[in-house]
Amino acid sequence: MDDLISREAIKQRFENYRGDCEEAGDMLSAQVFADCIAELADAPAVDAAPAVHGRWVWSPEYCKWICSVCAGREGECETPVCKWCGARMDGGQGDG
Ligand SMILES: [Zn+2]
Repeated sequence: MDDLISREAIKQRFENYRGDCEEAGDMLSAQVFADCIAELADAPAVDAAPAVHGRWVWSPEYCKWICSVCAGREGECETPVCKWCGARMDGGQGDG
């Protein structure tokens, strides 16, 4: 499965490796990391919607778990993703 990573985070890692190579006097490896950083800067981006995070909230009224994002009723067991809105059930902000 593909996933999305932070371009800036990986560039920073490569920059750290490049610095380590320079400190060790390995200028060839430092140049390789510099080239990788340049490639990352030029790599095309994909369209991606920001992830929505929610959590299951127990509803005594419906006797079911309800998505904190869309209020869709789920059922007896919790699932990692809301099947109605696609929110990841790993937290989220909201009602306590
Ligand atoms: Zn939902």
